[in-house]
Amino acid sequence: MRVAMLTSGGDAPGMNAAIRAATVVALALGHEPVGVRHGYRGLVDGELAPLELADVSDALRRGGTLLQSARCPEFHDAEVRQQARTVLTEHEVDGLIVIGGNGSLTGASYMSDPAEAGEWPVQVMGIPASIDNDIALTSLSIGVDTAMNTIVEACDKIADTASAHDRVFVVEVMGRDCGYLAMTSAIASGADMVLFPEADRSEAELVGAVADSVLAVRKRGGVQKVIAIKAEGIETPSERLKELVDAELAERSGGTAVPIETRVTVLGHVVRGGRPSAFDRLLGSRMGNVAVRALADGAHRQMVAWQPPVDAGDLGVRSEHDPYCHLMPLDVALEATRQLLDGQSPLARWRSTIFDDLQDVFLL
Ligand code: ADP
Repeated sequence: MRVAMLTSGGDAPGMNAAIRAATVVALALGHEPVGVRHGYRGLVDGELAPLELADVSDALRRGGTLLQSARCPEFHDAEVRQQARTVLTEHEVDGLIVIGGNGSLTGASYMSDPAEAGEWPVQVMGIPASIDNDIALTSLSIGVDTAMNTIVEACDKIADTASAHDRVFVVEVMGRDCGYLAMTSAIASGADMVLFPEADRSEAELVGAVADSVLAVRKRGGVQKVIAIKAEGIETPSERLKELVDAELAERSGGTAVPIETRVTVLGHVVRGGRPSAFDRLLGSRMGNVAVRALADGAHRQMVAWQPPVDAGDLGVRSEHDPYCHLMPLDVALEATRQLLDGQSPLARWRSTIFDDLQDVFLL
């Protein structure tokens, strides 16, 4: 098979791991990997070139995407998508892997929609990559873990200076439509509060919530550090929020207390970049591997999703407090662990099959 791949939309650390794995696995299986530069724009313009081991040998460690990305608004136009199909057919491509977010996967869906594409023979496979973790039916997308680590590291640093000066910080993180990153990094960094669009709070409620939190910390005494993580998707700009919070605090203290200093840090594109975490390298590599093997098996119009491998249905109950957490009887968990370590459990057998599959790839 000739397997083309592209990265599209917002870049995410770990995309390179997916490109590298798809390339290496394709070569190991005797297929021809082809890279498309600049996402759908490059596809329409015919920016296709074979990928070789040397092209991806150093990719795993690097953030961004070696194939580069682009926005291509013209791809909303069915005629432009037809042009893309023609390019793929001319280059004798059999399968296309689209690595990207919600928009990119939507483009892939339109492009491969039989109602629009007719008898077009190219198989299409999606890999979810989005630091916002805003793609459904996969518990994680590529890039989320690294972005979360970056935010936590930044918040740790901000906490040092905030503690030294008894300051309040509003830390704005990426996430236009989805507050997942803000929520999870607030938990992982021990922030004092989190503001995310899903809560649908009015501007006055947001200001009131931050002020309440600042005054609660002040009442507690000791170090007066407050960190509020705010998702980009909150409509009130961070500087305006700071001014409103300062005004609210001044009003509530009646001008008697020591003024509280609020600062704003917008992490912006810093959150997108950087070396991918070990987990994102693993996730990207495993999704890239599966995408190629699925194409070789004949799969079409599918998205590779990351889900816990154990169906816990009969063994435990899902926690009412967290959809990803199950409560397992301890003895059941320990027996399953024993079987896993003995190589008897389905998971152990699955792992050994996968390791067999991968041997040829590692021998390259
Ligand atoms: P992401 O993939 O990170 O969500 P975008 O939403 O910007 O990023 O989408 C990336 C690209 O995917 C767009 O520039 C466009 O080329 C394509 N795309 C997005 N939405 C659609 C759509 N509804 N129909 C066709 N193509 C789309």
